Formats: sequence, structure tokens, C-alpha cells
Amino acid sequence: METRVGMVSLGCSKNQVDAERMLYKLHEKGYKLVEDAALADITIINTCGFIESAKQEAIETILEFAELKKEGRIKKIIITGCLAERYKEEILSEIPEADAVIGIGSNDDICNILDRVMNGEQVTAFGSKLDLSLTGGRVRTTLPFYSYLKISDGCSNCCSYCAIPSIRGKMRSVPMETLEAEAAELAEKGVRELIIIAQDSTRYGEDIYGKPMLPELLTRLCGIDGLKWIRVLYCYPERISDELIEVMAKEDKIVKYIDMPIQHCDGEVLSRMNRPGDEETLRSLIAKLRDRIPDIILRTTLITGFPGETEEQFERLAEFVKDMRFDRLGCFPYSQEEGTKAALMDGQLDEDTRERRADIIMEQQMLIAEEKNEALIGTVTEAVVEGFDRYGECYFGRTAADAPEIDGKVFFTSPDRRLAIGEFVKVSINETMDYDLIGDVTDESAK
Ligand code: SF4
Repeated sequence: METRVGMVSLGCSKNQVDAERMLYKLHEKGYKLVEDAALADITIINTCGFIESAKQEAIETILEFAELKKEGRIKKIIITGCLAERYKEEILSEIPEADAVIGIGSNDDICNILDRVMNGEQVTAFGSKLDLSLTGGRVRTTLPFYSYLKISDGCSNCCSYCAIPSIRGKMRSVPMETLEAEAAELAEKGVRELIIIAQDSTRYGEDIYGKPMLPELLTRLCGIDGLKWIRVLYCYPERISDELIEVMAKEDKIVKYIDMPIQHCDGEVLSRMNRPGDEETLRSLIAKLRDRIPDIILRTTLITGFPGETEEQFERLAEFVKDMRFDRLGCFPYSQEEGTKAALMDGQLDEDTRERRADIIMEQQMLIAEEKNEALIGTVTEAVVEGFDRYGECYFGRTAADAPEIDGKVFFTSPDRRLAIGEFVKVSINETMDYDLIGDVTDESAK
């Protein structure tokens, strides 16, 4: 009987692309891939180890599958991804149910490792993280009409709170021709929305071409037939150049949406985060973006309770958020990560303060998001169909203003005809629900 393999991929879309590449290799080797990892013989848990909450989620998932293994429902457990890379020793000593622990530099050996595990071996494999493959086939795990395109991996920015550079190594970009070919192949297979990802997309190409090449790459990707939406995530604010803004403004296929994690607005806090800029530079960047691309949706993420953040600095951040009225925002309490510079800084704040501050920002943002959503009542917007909600008896999908997984949804009815997943329709908005919109498909899209 064929060996069935299931994958649970946690964390970000970059990790998900790694999982998709491993699945492709396994499929090519003849392993049978199953969607429900609890029904597999071998379960691969592709973990995230970025911050405390992600580590917690990874450990809980591993323990859940360890339980299934004890009950005899699955045979083997393989741990891959960032948590494996970061905590190899701990996983080996504390989770004896793990049959293999693999660092990201050994993802390419996944087939060989599974063969060995099935022969009863316990395997650890930790190749150089710089060997992580950034090209090759993928079994995509997203809805068929959209796909991530990972343009680089690793990060050379060294923000003082972040463990990513030590987990994933320095930034390596994929050559432009390779990305163009991958995107063209995806488009041929029916992908309409391409989502550009990296640890820092705006630094793309610096290692290969000697300067950031995201504007050039985007221009080339816009030339690919079949693609309708191109979305750029993870932009580093200081590297959002005039050239990049021009390309985003000019190219119809690039959705007018930019994700630029700013983390804070106070110059002193930013400097301790080892990030450039201050409130003034951020204000002028945001003003410039809104001026050149009037309908742009701005998404950002923030950290509250960074070591030494005073009440006054926090209040400045809260005021800044009220003032800037970001369209999308995620705020996270600072997570003290071992091995980072920030973890050793004086002035570590207690967990309650970090969380209270994050809650205040999120409550403020909720009101802003509701107001922004309410302003859309009575308008007609384009949305892509993602599925049918049986309980709500309506379809759901996303507008160009929302990225999958992280942003809101739009729920809508279509009384006159059935809709297909991946179909683009016009929705007339008549209600809102927190971060989501509610409406009906218009006659226009029923033609
Ligand atoms: S840009 Fe900063 S926060 Fe983002 S991955 Fe790189 S080091 Fe971490």
C-alpha cells in the first residue's frame, strides 16, 4: 500500500511555500498526499518559531499529533520549519515521538528522510540554511486562483527584536528570469492573483544586482497574460522608493494595497529596534503614498512594549495610529526572543503592560476599520469568490483591498446564479460586520 503523507504548515506564507516545495518532491517520489494530516501514515509539521505565540502553537500541534501516534492512528511524525531550525536540541530531547527533525537547509532531502524514517530510523538533518531551495515545483495549498511568489528568503536587516536572520540566514534573492518563468507557469495554470512575498520584499535583488530591483520585477510580472491582481506584501518603509511608488501607481494589475510593517513611530524606539526613520519620515512617506496613489490601502504591523518604551512613547504611537487611520493594522505585544539583541536590553516591560498597550491600539483600530467599512455602504466593489458559507447561506470572497488570511472578507448573496470559486464579481455593499463587508452580487456581474 502507498504511504500516505499529510502536512500541517504553520506560520507565514513563506513557510507555506517551503511546505509546497516539499509536497511536490514527495508527490514526484510516489508518496500519496492526503489533505487531512490526521489520516496520514506520516505527518509533517512545518513549524513557525518566530515569536512566543507561534512557538506555542507549533508545540501544541506537535503534541496533538504525538497523541495520535500513541493511539496508533499515525505512524511517524516529522518536524520541519523554523521551530525545528531554532530548537533542534529541545525538540529531540523533549518530544521523543518526533521521528525526524529537519532544518530548512535539508528540506530538499525530504524524500530520502521519509524513506529512512519508514525503515525505523530516527533522523536529524541540518544542512546549511543557505541551501534552502527557492525554486522548483510546488503542490499549491492555496485556493487555485491565487498563489504566493517567494522572491527571496532570509533577511539582512537585523532588527534587534527579530530572530529571523538567525533562523533563515542572510537574504538571498531568486533571479528575475526564474521568477518571471514561475509566475508565467502559475498564470497558465489558472492563477489570477499573484502575491509577492519575502522577509523584506523591497530589498529584493540587492544581493544579485547590487541594488533593489522590486520595481523592475513588478513591471516584468505585469507583462504576464492571465494575471489580474499582483499584491506586494512585507515592504520595509525606508525602502519604498519613488520608483516603486510610480510603478504601483501606473500598473493596473498591481492592486493599490501596500503592506509596510512600521513597528513603531517613535524615533528612539525605532533606533533601539535597529530600524531607521522616525515619526516625521513615516508621516511624509504615508502622505506621499496617499498623494500619488489616492485609493491606496495601507496595512501595517506594530509592536507595543518594546524594552524601554515609555508610557509617553506608547501614547505617541496611539496618537499616530489615530491620526494616520491605517486601513489594516495588526498590533503585537513585544516577544522577548532569545538570541536577539533586544532580549538583552534593559527596560524589559512586564507582559501585562505589553499586552494592555497592544489591546488599546487594536481597540482604537477597530473603530477606524468600522468607520472605513461603513463608508463603503452603497458602493459597488469587485470581489473574487472564495467559497460558499453553508451556515450563512451566502458566498464569501475578498476585494482587492484584502489579502488572504490576514484581512477581512466580503459575504454576499447571488440569488440568480451559482458562482464559481475564483470568479470575479461585482458586489453592492449594504452592511458591515466588524472587519467584514456584506452585500449582494449586482446584475452587472450576472451577465
Ligand atoms: S525586516 Fe526586520 S523584522 Fe522583518 S524579518 Fe528582517 S529582521 Fe525580522
